Amino acid sequence: MRRAALLAALIGAAACRAPAAERTAEPAAPSAAPTSRPDGTRMLAAVAVLAHDSMEGRATATPGSARARRWLLTELGEIGLEPPAGGFEQAFAISARGGGPRGVNLVGVIRGRTRPERVLVLGAHYDHLGIRRDSVYNGADDDASGVAVVLELARWFRAHPPASTIIVALFDAEEVGVVGSEAFVRSPPVPLDRMAAMVNLDMVGRNAANELWIAGTAHWPKLVPVAEAAGGRSALTVRLGHDRPGVAGVDDWTDASDHGPFHKAGVPFLYFGEEDHADYHRPTDDVERIQPAFLLGAAETVLDALLVLDTLQAPLR
Ligand SMILES: [Zn+2]
Repeated sequence: MRRAALLAALIGAAACRAPAAERTAEPAAPSAAPTSRPDGTRMLAAVAVLAHDSMEGRATATPGSARARRWLLTELGEIGLEPPAGGFEQAFAISARGGGPRGVNLVGVIRGRTRPERVLVLGAHYDHLGIRRDSVYNGADDDASGVAVVLELARWFRAHPPASTIIVALFDAEEVGVVGSEAFVRSPPVPLDRMAAMVNLDMVGRNAANELWIAGTAHWPKLVPVAEAAGGRSALTVRLGHDRPGVAGVDDWTDASDHGPFHKAGVPFLYFGEEDHADYHRPTDDVERIQPAFLLGAAETVLDALLVLDTLQAPLR
């Protein structure tokens, strides 16, 4: 993550249509909530591993990135994900010209029970900013938090197999311009038209106001009921928006993270994330500043959204 704040401000200032009101999801009865929930302690431990100084900030094509990847590969194996045809690792050139250092996405599959040809992609990026001027940018919230939730939900769906196939994608090289997710979309493990939706998590570990945003429904209105259902059951205050230009005080995050390349390729997306904070892209984005209850609330909200997405019959495009 993220954020062309200046550009968004300029676009916002240039747009003269009246800003539409952003929306807050209404509370709903918890009747359909699953009985087994994500494990908050295990997610926090995963953030602590990825955001440890020994991972050196996980900058793409560095020893710290390789160390983080080795740990993640062990997790994918232990969880019991299947590798796609090319294996768990998808390497790609960072430069558009093709030479030089390479990034590596990690991809695993949970085969669907009754509709395996229908695919939901669940993603987060494991890279961050590395070491700069002797400071380690640990990226606990950005985006170790999202990776921890993705791993936990992968575990959950291995124990409670979904109807549709879930492809787990841990992207590299997001911080240098969503290069990993672009590579994934360019060489997808299954054809893009089989991907019913993409769910991206980037910065889901903390917010002083306990507010979690879901972006994407302005572009993909058939996803409104999914976001509303998940938001209505959430322990957090879930708001829908950040997906249009010209809304006063609200940046457009449509191209702000790894959901962007999927959106451009015509795959409907929901992006879950919180507003920037004082530690955003600073060496102080540490595990001690993660709010365990927020991280758990975000995981439960994303799980609810995935459960709704899994059962939908109508096309979302
Ligand atoms: Zn990020």
